[in-house]
Amino acid sequence: VLSLGQDFDFFYFVLQAMQWPGSYCDTKQSCCYPTTGKPDADFGIHGLWPNYKDGSYPSNCDPNDPFDQSKISDLISRMQQNWPTLACPSGSGSTFWAHEWDKHGTCSETVLDQHGYFGSALNLKAKLDLLQILQSAGINPDGGYYSLSSIKSVIQSATGYSPWIECNVDESGNSQLYQIYFCIDTSGSNFITCPVLPHGKCDSTVEAFRQLPCWRLGAW
Ligand code: 5GP
Ligand code: 5GP
Repeated sequence: VLSLGQDFDFFYFVLQAMQWPGSYCDTKQSCCYPTTGKPDADFGIHGLWPNYKDGSYPSNCDPNDPFDQSKISDLISRMQQNWPTLACPSGSGSTFWAHEWDKHGTCSETVLDQHGYFGSALNLKAKLDLLQILQSAGINPDGGYYSLSSIKSVIQSATGYSPWIECNVDESGNSQLYQIYFCIDTSGSNFITCPVLPHGKCDSTVEAFRQLPCWRLGAW
């Protein structure tokens, strides 16, 4: 009997800062509110990405299983609230969700079908409640500056897991929080210690950050 094992080792669950600040805006020429309205002052989901322990990752694994919004119709209102797009021109989010499913989701389809994949990401965000964790430690989306170490240690003590934080630079050269990475087991439901941390661009951003040891969590 053939056992259909999963062909990846873990997931990165990646959240992006939406309005504190909308750091995505500084990675692109512009950014736009979704057609469904101004996003909450919260984190939004970027994606749930199957990865290998060596740091590499599969992508675009199944062209025969394209994104089909009718498979997640019961999740749409939660998707709009928790997984909004900041890309221009303004959209409802479905282009972003389709990109994430086609590129990443198809690589974990032996474990999670489309409904399972998007449902898992929504459930992870709810279980984590990152906004509440930060706000109860006095870290608010108020345009203030907070140290990287305080943000990491607050998350570590609330969840038991140390997140990996990616920053970018705003127009004025301030280092700002961009994305927060957590690691998830292959079932898509449990937080785990990261087998490997992301690398690439992120290293130099963190390097640049050391000279500017405060994160700007500004209003958009
Ligand atoms: P960037 O070049 O901004 O770091 O990443 C661009 C895109 O590449 C991400 O949005 C994601 O789709 C993919 N990517 C980057 N790093 C990783 C990674 O470590 N794992 C996976 N699965 N995808 C990644
Ligand atoms: P990745 O390949 O990096 O997983 O996904 C990023 C792709 O989704 C890019 O093509 C980007 O333009 C698009 N995208 C649409 N909306 C958003 C958004 O709100 N945030 C990010 N990071 N990418 C978005």
